[in-house]
Amino acid sequence: MDEFRYRDGQLYCEQIPVKDIAATVGTPTYIYSAATLLGHYRKMAEAFGLLKPTICYSIKSCQNLHICSMLADNGCGFDVVSGGELYRALQAGADPSQIVYAGVGKTDRELCEAIEAGIGLFNIESEAELQNLASIVASRNARVSAALRINPDVDPKTHAYTSTGKKETKFGVDLDKAHELFKAWNNHKSVHLRGAHLHIGSPVYTVEPYVEAIQKVLKLIHSLKSEGVVIDSLDIGGGYGANYGITDSPSAADYARAIVPLLKSENLKIYIEPGRSLVGNAGVLLARVLYTKETPAKRFVITDTGMNDLIRPSLYGAFHFIWPAQVAKEFVPASRAEKLDLPGLLEVDVVGPVCESGDFLAKGRCLPPMERCDLLAVFTAGAYGMVMSSQYNSRPRAAEVLVQGDRWRVIRRRETYEDLLRAEIEVEY
Ligand SMILES: *Cc1c(COP(=O)(O)O)cnc(C)c1O
Repeated sequence: MDEFRYRDGQLYCEQIPVKDIAATVGTPTYIYSAATLLGHYRKMAEAFGLLKPTICYSIKSCQNLHICSMLADNGCGFDVVSGGELYRALQAGADPSQIVYAGVGKTDRELCEAIEAGIGLFNIESEAELQNLASIVASRNARVSAALRINPDVDPKTHAYTSTGKKETKFGVDLDKAHELFKAWNNHKSVHLRGAHLHIGSPVYTVEPYVEAIQKVLKLIHSLKSEGVVIDSLDIGGGYGANYGITDSPSAADYARAIVPLLKSENLKIYIEPGRSLVGNAGVLLARVLYTKETPAKRFVITDTGMNDLIRPSLYGAFHFIWPAQVAKEFVPASRAEKLDLPGLLEVDVVGPVCESGDFLAKGRCLPPMERCDLLAVFTAGAYGMVMSSQYNSRPRAAEVLVQGDRWRVIRRRETYEDLLRAEIEVEY
């Protein structure tokens, strides 16, 4: 699943002991493994190979420029959801024709930027957006290609906040509306509505919701075809699981085994938008223990990282496997399960320094005894980690490091106190 392993009680990322990185860069630091990221990308490409898909990495899962350019260098396209992400993708060297752009609230400025960039597909989320895009495109005497995001009303059985394909969510349009819009816009002179787009949620740990959603959309595409309306592309979205250690996550091959047969004899250009499944396992957040503290109620391990660096536990109640980066032989973890059957573990809450009771990384977790200055790794933190970080409590953001074999480099320097104030001092009006 990834290239983070213990050797002689030391956690390594590929060939680098993570303690070496901490000694130079300090903590907290996000550490990414290039081999893990590219490995997952290749597995996805292979698994869906029969469909010759355009893989559009979902930038919002981990947006670092160097991560994006590594993927662009390997032929990967991008799924963006804002003008800022489009800017990043272009700066990373993306091929504009391999960029797809989703999101319910694209501004005029963002639409103009995407038209100018010549992106591959606008993934449209409402009739009002379609009309707005058409008027902007018409005023420039241009024509663009678009896909319609369809809300298939399936339950991806994931957290309510990240469930996007049920009818009560704000995303896409329902099947009936889609039918009407495709008929009206398929031959439009400014916006060529030629594709269907799905993204049902994240993480989706079973294949059934994908199958159900794709079957519903194929039915629509077939019925449109009988009416002379040609849909030539289908974007099946992202949401494929990463392996967090507790739930069995299907592999790229498992998802493909269920999805590819549905699509292989359809004459559709296929897009896939994985984020988490590519980068989730490729990152750990490395932190240091500041203090331990025992109260009559609990035992706490207080670290130098918290909800401002990694909000997933606080926001979604998400599980991240956490373990010291240097351990005695008997404490080398055999798996990343929530409870490991090892003698001598202590039940603790792992918390951060932020002034909120919601600032925790784990609650009631059994870990080896820890002391001040011990290094602690939070695993599977590559996706929706750094991107959701904030400077809350005026905490400068963490550094990011990329490991490639026996080399490593800083790909985002640690923020400074000056960074905290920069936008408040450089005020123009
Ligand atoms: C977030 C998002 C994705 C990626 O989801 P993952 O769970 O990271 O794979 C794909 N497509 C769209 C439209 C998204 O908003």
